[in-house]
Amino acid sequence: MDYLPFTRPSIDEETIAGVAEVLRSGWITSGPCVKQLEQELSQYFGGRPVRAMSSATGALEIALALAGVQAGDEVITTPLSWVATANVIVRAGARPVFVDVDAITRNIDLERMEAAITPRTRALLPVDMAGLPVDRDRLYDIARRRGPRVIEDAAQSMGASWGGRRIGSFGDLVAISFHANKNITTAEGGCLVTSDAAETDLCTRLRLQGVVRLPDGGQEVDVAGGKHNLTDVAARIGLGQLKQLEAFTARRRLLVQRYFERFDADSGCELPLADYANCNWHMFQVLLPLDRMRIDRGGFIQAMHQRGIGVGVHYPAMHLFKLYRRLGYNPGDFPQAERIGGTTVTLPLFPAMTEADVDRVCAAVAEIIRDNKS
Ligand SMILES: *Cc1c(COP(=O)(O)O)cnc(C)c1O
Repeated sequence: MDYLPFTRPSIDEETIAGVAEVLRSGWITSGPCVKQLEQELSQYFGGRPVRAMSSATGALEIALALAGVQAGDEVITTPLSWVATANVIVRAGARPVFVDVDAITRNIDLERMEAAITPRTRALLPVDMAGLPVDRDRLYDIARRRGPRVIEDAAQSMGASWGGRRIGSFGDLVAISFHANKNITTAEGGCLVTSDAAETDLCTRLRLQGVVRLPDGGQEVDVAGGKHNLTDVAARIGLGQLKQLEAFTARRRLLVQRYFERFDADSGCELPLADYANCNWHMFQVLLPLDRMRIDRGGFIQAMHQRGIGVGVHYPAMHLFKLYRRLGYNPGDFPQAERIGGTTVTLPLFPAMTEADVDRVCAAVAEIIRDNKS
């Protein structure tokens, strides 16, 4: 049987031909395709300004700069995310203040988040795990009452919504990723949605060396920008992907419905929250009943691999990494994040999968757990 990876991008022939055209055009870095992608993204986000980036990590770094995050500031975030989320805070010279996640949504616990706000809190940086949005009503209510800026790490949220509104079409600063594994891709890439014209202008400068082109052909620089621009080659992939976003999301929802139907309810696994209205189903993650198994997570992943099925781990709790231990965090600090981070596995989910693939994954998981009961 064919190997089933945990994810795989779907790039159609029209997009491949379009990329070839860009490569033959003589202009392969930021140019007309980036402009067009930004226009189409802006349209998708209800007319808000959008700047394409070479990664969501770059978008988050710029968002932190726009929010004025400096050395000595605190930024509140979740311990359960891709480590980029916390690394960008450290790289800005600020302190990542972790608060535990909610057991059901696996997203930052907003009550704990509010309790962690201090006079030094410059920004709130929540993550929509697996594309399940953090409660935006409560989030922005807290931000309005307490003052900090919001930087949405919506890296996984393209195509998700909250209360019928697209993620990215409202809110403060929103960073989205187009990494190869995300719901739409540019291979590597991302974007930052901004709201204010002055910040958008600063964002444009921070993206590429701070350079402003003058009418007389000269240049001016008054801020040390970085190098975060997207190439036209990548943007052309994005243009092809954006056309398919709705179909991709619909397909993911159908496959997830199949997972919920076919998953062995007696396996002891904890399934994700079945939110079909808001979630874009970036991933389908289950928590393994490891305390009732004779094998550890590595053994489970190996057994799945032997059956030709790829499994991911998203993510180990970040505060347990050496870097964050050095900042004073310890095992036991965030019990939910540690429990989820220690038992989570990401099962295959991508638009080109079939219903039969889902059935095959469900059968393999049930069999491995049954054969390895302790
Ligand atoms: C993918 C991801 C990022 C980083 O995105 P890149 O485009 O790879 O830089 C940041 N945060 C989360 C939650 C992600 O999933």
